[in-house]
Amino acid sequence: MAYEYKILIDGKLTESLRGETMEVINPANGTRVALVPKCGPEDVDLAVAAAQRARAAWRNTYVGERSELLMRLAAILRAHEAELVPLETAQYGGPISKTSKFDIPFAPAEFEFIAGLGRGLTGLTISADPTARVMTFREPCGVVGLITPWNFPLVTAVSKLAPALITGNTVVLKPASCAPLTVLKLGEYIVEAGIPAGVVNIVTGPGPSVGEAIVKHPGVDKINFTGDSGVGKRIMSLAAPRVMPVASELGGKNAMIVLDDANLDAAAEGATYAAFFNSGQNCGSPSRFYVQEGIYDAFVERFVKSASKIVVGDPMDPKTMMGPLAYKACRDTAERFIAGAKAAGAKVLLGGDRPLSPDMAKGAFVMPTIFEVYDNRMELMQEEIFAPVVGVMKIKTPEEAVALANDSRYGLCASVWSSDYRKAMLLTEELKVGTAWVNQHLAIVSETPWGGQKESGWTKENSVLVLEEYTYHKHLWVNMAETPNTFWKEYIS
Ligand code: NAD
Repeated sequence: MAYEYKILIDGKLTESLRGETMEVINPANGTRVALVPKCGPEDVDLAVAAAQRARAAWRNTYVGERSELLMRLAAILRAHEAELVPLETAQYGGPISKTSKFDIPFAPAEFEFIAGLGRGLTGLTISADPTARVMTFREPCGVVGLITPWNFPLVTAVSKLAPALITGNTVVLKPASCAPLTVLKLGEYIVEAGIPAGVVNIVTGPGPSVGEAIVKHPGVDKINFTGDSGVGKRIMSLAAPRVMPVASELGGKNAMIVLDDANLDAAAEGATYAAFFNSGQNCGSPSRFYVQEGIYDAFVERFVKSASKIVVGDPMDPKTMMGPLAYKACRDTAERFIAGAKAAGAKVLLGGDRPLSPDMAKGAFVMPTIFEVYDNRMELMQEEIFAPVVGVMKIKTPEEAVALANDSRYGLCASVWSSDYRKAMLLTEELKVGTAWVNQHLAIVSETPWGGQKESGWTKENSVLVLEEYTYHKHLWVNMAETPNTFWKEYIS
């Protein structure tokens, strides 16, 4: 029997008001993993009301106490790792080698990191006027709506929840409809950890109804969203009438630049991992490769050779490196882009099809796919495919590579591969992205800030900077003089 999952509202694990449910499907084989509540705007109303009621007490709780609750939650998460790993894999197809090494251990580690970091939050003291004492106090934003995607279901939720809570906000969290299970389990652990009722509320349901109900709710003070750039724009437009801030981590179409003096083996290894890890369903994956002509043939040969060694298969098998895409529509999208690239004259160097094994016929699989391309304006080089599909293009100079890398509406991240560190570092300064790496791609850890430029969004997740997204500096000016400081003193006193 499928496990019964509940949403969390006002400290209670419950059904949606209408009692409707939706299915979570395993993309590796098309079977049902679970039924979860399908909420509506009326559930969002309850969730926001609970968050509103809880906010005064939570923001006035000593930060050390909030920190202790997060540490308790981290301990509960660790105790349930063995149960969470296969659940995360079953709901969205991330191989167990990934969910066991990264996704699930990340959650408690992030709560612990933020539980310490948040205790060091400070305001400013400002020498503005010798007759005044001027300072800023850090205040929580209030009720924050957290809306998260499916590609790292628990990771993205925890990356928002932990900083929101330590800084004294209360939240309404909505995970992606196709992969909400580990976040719903987190709801159970939140109750077990003793986090007060109403501080965290979790609702599930479609983005256009439940997500938009959160964004439009007058009781919500801020949205922190991770997802597609088009959805981000829609959310910003809904938030605009109230001038409500929307923190946004959006899509990416990221460049990897390989120069003539790069270490070939290192670049091929880095390219293979970063492009195809998690089936390329990473906002930070490189999907455009600009390779200098002197190294081009050798790099392409090695990249194709190492990508052809990727083990694609059942994500529950520990040997599997690449599982299916998260659901069938993602595969359909990938296949549309592959057909479009072929029609536009790109040459298939690897893949371009589904796996041949009949075991995988019912799953949403796409093989690692590498195209050789000649035109940066091709759809393949401009649109986010969010699948294991990349284009490689020959370039003459580092400057040309940077110009092509910047020729994109996205600006999430990019990397430069070269043995000349000085040259590589100077090139990164020209890249219009939020993160640039040298001889590395897709290194993202709790301590380092993550976030983009342009249509990739502008806010920061992770690192000490994440605390900025969940607090305001309230400026306080205390006049220590007998009279106020005004320009009218000589006329009116
Ligand atoms: P998505 O935008 O379709 O969905 C994200 C969340 O938004 C889901 O919970 C969804 O239900 C909700 N949603 C959808 N429509 C909505 C609406 N109209 N109003 C409110 N909420 C709505 O994204 P996805 O397909 O789940 O994830 C893939 C996308 O996320 C890619 O574009 C990827 O690049 C991006 N992403 C970005 C980062 C980053 O850090 N920049 C990280 C992970 C994923």
